[in-house]
Amino acid sequence: MQTLSSDMTAWIDAQQSEMIKHVCALAEINSHTLNTKGICDVAKLVTEFAAVLNPDLTETIEMPAAPNVDDLGNVIENPIAPALKFTKRPNAPIQVLLMIHMDTVYPIDHPFQSLNWIDDNTLNGPGVLDAKGGIITMLTALQAFEQSPHASELGYTIIFNTDEEIGSPSSVNMIKEHAKDVHLALVYEPAMPNGDIVSTRKGSGNFAITVQGQAAHAGRDFFKGKNALNAVASLTQELNKITNADSGTTCNIGYIHGGGPVNVVPDKAVLKFNIRLFDADAQVSIYQQLKALTEELDQTEGYGAQLHGSFYNPPKVLTPALSQLMEHIQLLSKDLGMDIQYQPSGGVCDGNKIASVGTPVIDTLGPRGNYMHNPNEFVLVDSLPQRTKITAALLSAYASGQLPIPGH
Ligand SMILES: [Zn+2]
Repeated sequence: MQTLSSDMTAWIDAQQSEMIKHVCALAEINSHTLNTKGICDVAKLVTEFAAVLNPDLTETIEMPAAPNVDDLGNVIENPIAPALKFTKRPNAPIQVLLMIHMDTVYPIDHPFQSLNWIDDNTLNGPGVLDAKGGIITMLTALQAFEQSPHASELGYTIIFNTDEEIGSPSSVNMIKEHAKDVHLALVYEPAMPNGDIVSTRKGSGNFAITVQGQAAHAGRDFFKGKNALNAVASLTQELNKITNADSGTTCNIGYIHGGGPVNVVPDKAVLKFNIRLFDADAQVSIYQQLKALTEELDQTEGYGAQLHGSFYNPPKVLTPALSQLMEHIQLLSKDLGMDIQYQPSGGVCDGNKIASVGTPVIDTLGPRGNYMHNPNEFVLVDSLPQRTKITAALLSAYASGQLPIPGH
């Protein structure tokens, strides 16, 4: 099956230097999740780049603040920059959601802020792979698709969210809302380093338990004290029992804060942990377990305890429609000379949220590279046009009717 003409593949190949220029321009702007000014600057540039698609509608969507538990157990509301949304042909018979985030993991005072060519094909820089390379891959693929003779058959919504790197707490509902009424969704997280695409994903939840004990002098009143750190230590022992190698469920104790001078019985402690699992049903029972543990401590004399957080990302499981979408991508990639394999991942992304409303989604259509979330992060720039072709071919195949819409 040939869905991309040789003219079109040549056109995409010819975009490589322009794509690199755009990735660099985006990566030069710090857009850490909490740097709302930087994210707005990235959004301005993305809007300029997206103008070639001549969208019917360009919108910004205000985001609610993202709650975070601080070291004293207080809930802090972090402002989150507005998301960006473009709509094209909303009345076309086939509707697709395309999305990727604009935020990165590197704070504004992080030493990793600039670009560096490792060799002709390897560009090192903050967010070049995750996910600024993905932003440009998506936009270029859509630009290619707009030249397809069947473009009128397929419309799309593009969402660029701004809080993915903290788990999308502010955009989760907006994402689900937009994922509900489309035939399929495509997300531009980086491919696996060897080019593989992720099939299923574990679910994930971030939680915090804040503990209030009673301070006392360690010498005079030791027995009047209620030690918050001891309570947290007991909690971690209980939480570790959630981990099960057979089912793949894990509970990672990630952060403990509390205490001070050793002659004082500590009265405050914060415990943060992450739970991942393949089994969607287990989410409910594990959450009940967390609630019961917290309540038990809360009802212990002299102690108070509160549970924060939830399973933001339900597991992404294999459905018939997803299998079909995966096969289509494999088939088209083969025609383009790429051997795409699938693998499950313990990592989570916005693909989990999209899948939770029943929409088939492939979420690693971005470029190849490695070391995301790390100053060694790099993108292989020849993968920018390669991955662009996959999306352009897929959309063309659906618009022309060469492939059936998955699940229909
Ligand atoms: Zn990402």
